[in-house]
Amino acid sequence: MASLKIIIVGAGKGGLAAATGLARNGHQVTVYERSTSTSEIGYAFRITPNSDRCLKCLGIDTVAGGAVAANSSRMFNAEGQVVFSFKENNDVEKAKRGTSVFAYRPQLHQQLLQVALDSGVKVLSGQRVESVDTGKTTIKLADGVTASADLVIAADGLHSAVRSHVIDSTRFSPKPSTGQSAIRFMLSKSVVQNDSIMSTMVDEDSHMFSWKGNNKRILVYPVDYDQQYNITCTYPSNFSSEQTSNKNSAAVVAYNQKISFDTALDIYSDFDPIAKRLFSLADPDGFRAWQLQDMDDHPSWSVNHTTLLGDACHAVLPFGFSGASMAIEDGVTISTLLSPDVRAEDLSARLKLYEEVRRPRVAKVRESSLVLAKGLEDKEFMQEYMMFLSSHDAVEYAKQALSRYLETASGKDATDA
Ligand SMILES: Cc1cc2nc3c(=O)[nH]c(=O)nc-3n(C[C@H](O)[C@H](O)[C@H](O)COP(=O)(O)OP(=O)(O)OC[C@H]3O[C@@H](n4cnc5c(N)ncnc54)[C@H](O)[C@@H]3O)c2cc1C
Repeated sequence: MASLKIIIVGAGKGGLAAATGLARNGHQVTVYERSTSTSEIGYAFRITPNSDRCLKCLGIDTVAGGAVAANSSRMFNAEGQVVFSFKENNDVEKAKRGTSVFAYRPQLHQQLLQVALDSGVKVLSGQRVESVDTGKTTIKLADGVTASADLVIAADGLHSAVRSHVIDSTRFSPKPSTGQSAIRFMLSKSVVQNDSIMSTMVDEDSHMFSWKGNNKRILVYPVDYDQQYNITCTYPSNFSSEQTSNKNSAAVVAYNQKISFDTALDIYSDFDPIAKRLFSLADPDGFRAWQLQDMDDHPSWSVNHTTLLGDACHAVLPFGFSGASMAIEDGVTISTLLSPDVRAEDLSARLKLYEEVRRPRVAKVRESSLVLAKGLEDKEFMQEYMMFLSSHDAVEYAKQALSRYLETASGKDATDA
């Protein structure tokens, strides 16, 4: 049976998840990655059971790779009073099918890369894709070299080079919808444990802790075999205060932008001293800020045999813990839909099916993330959202969609005959 030749742009979470599934279906998959290093930028993210379930299908055990099970969380207000606490992964049988975990990016990336290579995917690093010719299904690299395929999947993230060739980027592009930014940094868990002020936060039950107040949040969770804390702090990008000499010093316009210790501390000056202590314990040169962006839903993700996936297509704000989840779900969905027997002439219909399966779910996640970003949610909203996000089985959902599609198509063939 003839397999498809598939190019994937970007070896991020979504690109590698798609590549692995497609290669296992017998397709010839080459991933072009601009980065020269095989490791990922640091920091961490939360993997909810829906995406852990997809990773398990790819043969990845996140906890064995260093992720920490998100068994319990505690939230405080800015003054340090407990607002609520909750437990996760209580149902052992459910957790076996999909666990809520905190994953360190370089570790999860390494696991994804390994399963892709083991499945026969060719990963070419240091290869920046500059453009795509959607008429010819070819990509052009920064050094002028071109490559052709039956299908190009652009999984090149928020600042996608391919997006503008597929959709009208004058109308649809990333934007700072809620005017918020995030500071990220890491702390060794032993530093926190040994500090007389912070050590009260570390106990066996409390895996994640956070403070929320005045449109600002600090979120702390363990990663890397429980050896490090990942800290993400969000705030209004236009923050300024009497004490800040440069009124715009907290404004970030890009990602991974250095921010000073004084500015970081100044932003959270009205927070509980225990929360502020985190900044004092960290490397003063280690604070990096991101402008948080998302994108409106656009009517089509594909042109001819070129399609978009993950942040390249539908970036969401991180307040719903869902950007990487959505990229991984996209990846396993497209690989399920492009089954081993698919032919090049079936591609347009299968890409349409991919969009039909994914667009409604991504749109709902994006809307919910906007509500969460504004801090207007109540406990019930949060519980409903987490249930919607976590209970989904993307592989099973795609299999069912494909089987319905094939049934309808064979019925149509029979009528036509
Ligand atoms: C502060 C913050 C916190 C977050 N927290 C969470 C969370 O808790 N849970 C969650 O699920 N999500 C979270 N996210 C979102 C998540 O990080 C992204 O949604 C996710 O990384 C998107 O995955 P992706 O595969 O689409 O793109 P990426 O992971 O960005 O991968 C894109 C890849 O393409 C490569 N590339 C880019 N351009 C080119 C090119 N021209 N040619 C070749 N290669 C190229 C890049 O080098 C990269 O390897 C957070 C985001 C932020 C900013």
